[in-house]
Amino acid sequence: TTVPLRRALISVSDKTGLEAFATALAQRGVEVLSTGGTAKALRAAGLTVIDVAEVTGFPEMMDGRVKTLHPKVHGGLLALRDNPAHVAAMEEHGIGGIDLLVVNLYPFEETVAKGADYDTCIENIDIGGPAMIRAAAKNHAHVAVVVDTADYDAVLAALDDHDGSTPYALRQTLAQTAYARTAAYDAAVSGWMADAIGAETPRRRAVAGTLALPLRYGENPHQKAAFYTDGSARPGVATAVQHQGKDLSYNNINDTDAAFELVAEFNPADGPVCAIIKHANPCGVARGATMAEAYARAFDCDRTSAFGGIVALNQPLDAATAAKIVEIFTEVVIAPEASDEAKAIFAAKKNLRLLTTGGLPNPAAPARTIRQVSGGMLMQDKDTGRVDEEDLKPVTRRRPSAAEMSDMIFAWSVAKHVKSNAIVYVRDGATVGIGAGQMSRVDSSTIAALKAERMAKECGLPESLAKGSVVASDAFFPFADGLLAAAEAGATAVIQPGGSMRDAEVIAAADEAGLAMVFTGMRHFRH
Ligand code: 5GP
Repeated sequence: TTVPLRRALISVSDKTGLEAFATALAQRGVEVLSTGGTAKALRAAGLTVIDVAEVTGFPEMMDGRVKTLHPKVHGGLLALRDNPAHVAAMEEHGIGGIDLLVVNLYPFEETVAKGADYDTCIENIDIGGPAMIRAAAKNHAHVAVVVDTADYDAVLAALDDHDGSTPYALRQTLAQTAYARTAAYDAAVSGWMADAIGAETPRRRAVAGTLALPLRYGENPHQKAAFYTDGSARPGVATAVQHQGKDLSYNNINDTDAAFELVAEFNPADGPVCAIIKHANPCGVARGATMAEAYARAFDCDRTSAFGGIVALNQPLDAATAAKIVEIFTEVVIAPEASDEAKAIFAAKKNLRLLTTGGLPNPAAPARTIRQVSGGMLMQDKDTGRVDEEDLKPVTRRRPSAAEMSDMIFAWSVAKHVKSNAIVYVRDGATVGIGAGQMSRVDSSTIAALKAERMAKECGLPESLAKGSVVASDAFFPFADGLLAAAEAGATAVIQPGGSMRDAEVIAAADEAGLAMVFTGMRHFRH
């Protein structure tokens, strides 16, 4: 099943590497057929090309909608070379075999990303390209199909190693890639259409990804894993540049994403914010006059847990912050940018991974999250809910002070990124106690208060760090007990969704304890 490569059809929108690849094919005696724009580019490079229109006997027509959709093309791609009836049909109808198909598609995804109008997006749905790709991939017993410019070199190397033929195993791999590409392409088209026509729960959904990083293993060493990206241009872990350190692991990617999404809540224009994450939960988040101070304050929330953590910054990494970060073992640092001095400081820590993203994502931009469950997947809008002071409803006799208000909004933004049940104590723009992931809200409260007390002891302070703090709860307090525990720990103000059957009881308890409390009217469960 080695196929001597005699005739190729090249039809590409992305002309990266085209000239070199086609030249290399021509040097190996391969005859090249091409569509309009591709043929023009190849001729401009001095290559000899046959127009597909000459092969089909039809001009490209209808604004390119019909170029290659013809039996002379599809017969050449689909014919089984070792089937006498197929060979006879080729002879009878003057169909020449096509041994290599090189196609990359109209840039539909890029067109959508640019915000093009409906008709422009429709016009950028490639029809003949996917048809040829699927035909060639089906006939991989005889035909090689290339859909990624990144595969050009592998094909040339294989031709050199196999006497001008492509080996079967390579053709199988290329065919698998090809079907994943057409699937992803149609997933993009159908996803865009769902949005364009306002279909929030379409009857069918398709999702697709491209391998970005093979991982050594998954959450645990006995689990195989890989990182697939969806082609989004959003600044974040998927599009970040890694400057140093080992390859990211599965857990690193998951935690780094959680860390960066959290700091993206805080507008860099309002000052530096640093978050330290462990197991996808923050163990410290803080503002500072400088980034170095923000890091130090985030670190001080829970010094024990911060060891081996992921650090995310909402502003560039500077030298002073870098110098502080390298004082303990940290797995990953992610920031919009990093100064040269900061990079130089990190260079001494070979295992520390540094990622820069070029910017912060817009936390309010609509997106979807997908979670796999046995037999299917759950899809939902990403939690883009945010509150401003105007959205908050004071419910107690005592109204929050300006300082309490600002801390409450900070605590609420952090609580959104803490696994439920989430309780977050904040004082002066820094978390001082975080209770995460407990099955009971009271337990989360207890843990958060305990951490605030423990840290005070470690720092030799006379009273718990929760004294004079505000507290955020990701969902309502079903009973007054959780709220009273917070008051006892030293919180003076509470931010929570409200909406419990016992709200009146909880508000009365808050009044009794002299607390100020506001309702957000919005919940931030995170599981
Ligand atoms: P060119 O730049 O060579 O004029 O066009 C290349 C693009 O046309 C490729 O992206 C290829 O997938 C696409 N293409 C090839 N044949 C057809 C066809 O019959 N219909 C449509 N809509 N696109 C085609």
